[in-house]
Amino acid sequence: MFSLIHWLVILSVTLWPFGAESKEIKKTSLEIPKGKEAEVVRIALLQNISEVTLSADGSFQVRDSQGRPLFSGPRIVKTKVRAAPQGGIQWGIQSFATAPLVIQARGGAIRLDHHLYRHTLEIWPEMNGKISVINQVGLEDYLKGVLPVEANPKWDLEALKAQAVAARTYALFKAVENRDKKFALGKDVLSQVYAGKNSEHPVTDQAVESTRGRILTYRGKIFPAYFHSTCGGGTTHAEYLWNVEPHPSLKGVQCNFCWASKHYRWSDSISISEIEAALKRSGVKISGISEIRLEDIDATGRARKIGIVSPEGKISLHSNDFRLWIGPSKLKSTLITSMERKENQYLFRGRGWGHGVGLCQYGMKQLAELGYTYAQILQYYYPEAVVETLNNSSEFESASP
Ligand SMILES: [Zn+2]
Repeated sequence: MFSLIHWLVILSVTLWPFGAESKEIKKTSLEIPKGKEAEVVRIALLQNISEVTLSADGSFQVRDSQGRPLFSGPRIVKTKVRAAPQGGIQWGIQSFATAPLVIQARGGAIRLDHHLYRHTLEIWPEMNGKISVINQVGLEDYLKGVLPVEANPKWDLEALKAQAVAARTYALFKAVENRDKKFALGKDVLSQVYAGKNSEHPVTDQAVESTRGRILTYRGKIFPAYFHSTCGGGTTHAEYLWNVEPHPSLKGVQCNFCWASKHYRWSDSISISEIEAALKRSGVKISGISEIRLEDIDATGRARKIGIVSPEGKISLHSNDFRLWIGPSKLKSTLITSMERKENQYLFRGRGWGHGVGLCQYGMKQLAELGYTYAQILQYYYPEAVVETLNNSSEFESASP
């Protein structure tokens, strides 16, 4: 739920007290996009890799960066694509002096590794002979590839509709925020997980279709509608985790609805050497940790800072950084309820999974089962937000059925 670039920026500026604290506070409120900007999203599928193998069962067209057709065909038979040694992109044995090379699926989707992607792939040459692959896809088609992996098609339709509106709002916010960049979102958990056409499911497709164009706004502007698996009893304020403007709809709320989640309570043993190695990888060289302390506890019980004591003294780290460095599946949340030292390891106990900002997905699931509508669920987790419909003249034309 966080773009890779954003995460890397945060990583480099919140290493406290080693790095200088960034003065830049990111906006949480942006104008609603119009026209094509509201209809198309650009997703980084792969970055800085040597080559990809593409195939497609349907017809395709390849264009240069100016949109001029280069060639087309009835299908793509396993073709290796890489950076051309003299610049540009090499398609099989042919080279094209263009950046990017644009491949449009006309009758279906393009296969990249094990995933099928609708509409258009852009292959960009990068430094050191590497390439990156961007998928340009209609917003609604994109959401159909997000919902089945970010939620569960077995959940109530109202829960899935709430998820669709949150994911649509988040994607659009990122599209506006990153409008000058090569792509708006990644395809993994740091943004929202996107698995392409072959993950699509009729039930989640229905949740997307029945909320088509609907987004969350606060006073007529969009905000990053963050979501996470399980809050563990209450959500928290966005500005407690990230360098972002406080926002009325990204405030913590009490949640008594996610107790049935298997992530509601968790525990994990992590060795001191594992913690030291994780910190070292992230640029914090420390050895001989004698104590770990939870500091600056918020109203939900989340530690905003983690104090680490060693023979060299004590340092304070942002707990969200600490969690990501240790591993977000290992240290499932910063709502740590106890820490017990057992010889050379720490037993962490806590509640919830994820950053704890915005929509709690297991709470959403429970509220839908209790009969709440998708709009009521969203208004609960995003206080003061309203659901409105994008005013688009036309839906982005998808070339794929
Ligand atoms: Zn919850």
